[in-house]
Amino acid sequence: MTTDAGSHHASALDTPPTSAGAQLRARLLNALQTAVPGCQVLTGEENLAPYETDALPVYRQLPLMVALPDDESQVQGVLRECRRLGVPVVPRGGGTSLSGGATPMPNSLVLSLARLTRVLEVDPLARTATVQPGVRNIRISEVAAPYELYYAPDPSSQIACTIGGNVAENAGGLHCLKYGLTVHNILRVKAISMDGEVLEFGSLAPDAPGLDLLALLIGSEGMFAVVTEITVRLIPKPPVAKLVLASFDDVETAGDAVAAIIGEGIIPAGLEMMDKPAIAAVEAFVHAGYDQEAAALLLCEADGNREEVAEEVARICAVLQRHEVRDVQVSSNEAERLKWWSGRKNALPAAGRLAPDYFCMDGSIPRRAIGKLLKRIQGMEEVYGLQCLNVFHAGDGNLHPLILFDGNDADQLRRAEDFGADILERCVELGGTITGEHGVGIEKLNSMCVQFTPAERETFLAIKRAFDPAGLLNADKGIPTHARCAEYGHMHVSGGRLPFPDIERF
Ligand SMILES: Cc1cc2nc3c(=O)[nH]c(=O)nc-3n(C[C@H](O)[C@H](O)[C@H](O)COP(=O)(O)OP(=O)(O)OC[C@H]3O[C@@H](n4cnc5c(N)ncnc54)[C@H](O)[C@@H]3O)c2cc1C
Repeated sequence: MTTDAGSHHASALDTPPTSAGAQLRARLLNALQTAVPGCQVLTGEENLAPYETDALPVYRQLPLMVALPDDESQVQGVLRECRRLGVPVVPRGGGTSLSGGATPMPNSLVLSLARLTRVLEVDPLARTATVQPGVRNIRISEVAAPYELYYAPDPSSQIACTIGGNVAENAGGLHCLKYGLTVHNILRVKAISMDGEVLEFGSLAPDAPGLDLLALLIGSEGMFAVVTEITVRLIPKPPVAKLVLASFDDVETAGDAVAAIIGEGIIPAGLEMMDKPAIAAVEAFVHAGYDQEAAALLLCEADGNREEVAEEVARICAVLQRHEVRDVQVSSNEAERLKWWSGRKNALPAAGRLAPDYFCMDGSIPRRAIGKLLKRIQGMEEVYGLQCLNVFHAGDGNLHPLILFDGNDADQLRRAEDFGADILERCVELGGTITGEHGVGIEKLNSMCVQFTPAERETFLAIKRAFDPAGLLNADKGIPTHARCAEYGHMHVSGGRLPFPDIERF
């Protein structure tokens, strides 16, 4: 992602408007004005520009138009008209996707859910909240706070991202190690298919009859249906939380300490790691009070009642002492705890100050392999000639290498893309996956070819066709075509080396 809002990049997705596109726009506009008269529609380059990208702005594409429905029936009407005219649809929540999930595709309609912001019900007895998809993640905890309840999954983007986007991406966050990802905290979802059919997944009862299609929908990246209503689980706020801040002289030792904490049977509320370049970047930005001489830093949180927290903190510190910890501190008050967290939570904006652009990669590996992968990433920095900062949801083995580059330089962009793909392939090699929580979107399409066999990808495509036979919802995202994988297999870079380097590239 980039934070340089003023810069413009040539993009792989940039395509000039065609007269066929202009004709389609006119037909669609006419159809929407007739069939869904109350729905606001944006056209014209100036109005569409804010929607041409998401939080991965090296890829840009103007849509045909943007629809901003006010309610579920308008969502249904827009989808029906797009289906009838064969127009691809890209659902959009807060537009904070780091994988290009909300980036428009050529000649598509962006379906913004930003106006569906109603909290429909908070039920403190059932400990649930039912909300529309455009409600921001943090808003749910705000409306639950008077009942001393909150919604646990807390992506660092929680002030801006929406619950609809969280459902689509199966978002995680700092506290998901203990409290589960989005998929573990959603009871029921209402959604509308590309054909305009209203679908219901899950139930308010502890278990829903039939196949668990709710888990299939969560994390489907807006490719199956448009989410219009969500019932989330709320949990009581833990009365006490303390944060342990530990520094290490070596990244592998820090990685081993992470595995040892979990191996001890402790499930901390959060267990995060940062390497030296990441520590330097956030210190310069938010002055969190981190040990700048350290090679790696761990943030490990214990929450619960006073006695539970005291006992868990003592156990965590004992494990750290056995793993050559350089320095260990325990937060003495709430302000200090929040200050230490602020460093980790601001790692992405801190990286944004160092270069015009960065890719926030998102792979997962077994915890014991963390140190090994970090060492390999250091080697890759030399191969690709680019700097990389590393922040991890270490307890989940979910890493976020932040590759710094300048997207206005085509060679740097290519090297950054290859660097990212190389990291993801090493994740697969170490027994991990190419995405932890940010999704595949357009960013990791090629890496899907490495992770999955043609038969597995065909199964994914078959499931997509079952929901969306016309292939119009978030088309060409998430699941690569076989042709794309065949081409990538012949051209892809591994360890900085192209296969058949003597063959001319076009
Ligand atoms: C600074 C920063 C920090 C971040 N930290 C985290 C983190 O800690 N954990 C994490 O998991 N992610 C994180 N993210 C990524 C991002 O915030 C999440 O993926 C989030 O879930 C996206 O929500 P959104 O509302 O912005 O969705 P968008 O970006 O608008 O869309 C994301 C995807 O969901 C689809 N979609 C959106 N709404 C709907 C809907 N109603 N129905 C169907 N499909 C829909 C879109 O088509 C797209 O594919 C971070 C991003 C940033 C910029």
